[in-house]
Amino acid sequence: MSCDCLGWALEGVRGLHPYQPGKPVEELERELGITGIIKLASNESPLGPGEAALAAGRQALDDAARYPDGSGFRLKARLAEQLGVTAQQVTLGNGSNDILELVARTWLQPGAECVFAEHAFAVYPLVTRVTGAQAVVVPARDWGHDLEAMADAVTEATRLVFIANPNNPTGTWVGADALRTFLDRVPERVVVVLDEAYFEYVREAGYPDGLELLSRYPNLIVTRTFSKARGLAGLRIGYGLSSPEIADLLNRVRQPFNVNSVALAAAEASLDDAAHLERSVRVNSEGLRQLADGCGRLGLEYIPSVANFLSIDTGRDDAMPVYDGLLRRGVIVRPVANYAMPRHIRVSVGLESENARFLAALEEVLDR
Ligand SMILES: *Cc1c(COP(=O)(O)O)cnc(C)c1O
Repeated sequence: MSCDCLGWALEGVRGLHPYQPGKPVEELERELGITGIIKLASNESPLGPGEAALAAGRQALDDAARYPDGSGFRLKARLAEQLGVTAQQVTLGNGSNDILELVARTWLQPGAECVFAEHAFAVYPLVTRVTGAQAVVVPARDWGHDLEAMADAVTEATRLVFIANPNNPTGTWVGADALRTFLDRVPERVVVVLDEAYFEYVREAGYPDGLELLSRYPNLIVTRTFSKARGLAGLRIGYGLSSPEIADLLNRVRQPFNVNSVALAAAEASLDDAAHLERSVRVNSEGLRQLADGCGRLGLEYIPSVANFLSIDTGRDDAMPVYDGLLRRGVIVRPVANYAMPRHIRVSVGLESENARFLAALEEVLDR
């Protein structure tokens, strides 16, 4: 149906391409008439939530008639204690994506520029373009962020820079020295978001902890999430860490009850469950190795990853038929042509048996 109002939608909105989520298991099982499908498409934790988080979430449901604590008092206090910051430095979000959007809405408008890397997380162009600001996409180097080129791309109009460390969907990371050099070069009037959604997984020497940079760089915002290593993606909860003054600005923009009570309770409980997190990280590093070894056996190149997924070069100019072939064998992965990576598929690390099933299906599809 056509309507005059459609043409009056903001230009930034009309120019957007919607985010493409991974296909839900139930939908594909209906479509193909098969069962037992595995989904390795959205970088979710194969272990799921820990018992403590589940129990706390269930208990919070009893109070579902009440609005949640709009200030997130308890969770912020617990995060502050664990991370060595003050509660005034924490902004809670409906997933860390919520924080990314709050930041964009706080600093971007038509005429402003936002800098991020080629192959960077798809939400950066989304939250940028909807404001009418200009996205400045800086070519990648070896699939990763080229921080020197990104600093060069900063102009008088730049208000915001997004850095994903590690980046999704490439799994690449930037080191502490390169990051400091970058932050030293960027003027303080430019806000830098350091997106650490996969922080907990990374054990590489030289991988920077954004928190340690906060006191030195007042224009820095670090974002983290409960969606990945802590297995709470469905509850939608993440957070930003910044100066109290930046947190105060973000707090004015956010909706009063942007985080729900079940998420608040489960997230808080998950912070005390170090054993579950440790398990999650161990299963992931073993799985990454399993996937990389499997690719080696199949003679496939992949982008070395420190996150919970691996982007694999299918050896074909168009990975879509490989994606389709995997689907028909009951394995959902992610095509990444929308990230300018048409040859690759991205597979999330699963349980050992799931990784093995993926590799077997891939071998069949590629006829290796
Ligand atoms: C998954 C992911 C997030 C986390 O999103 P949530 O909204 O917290 O679920 C943020 N940044 C990147 C780069 C991601 O891949």
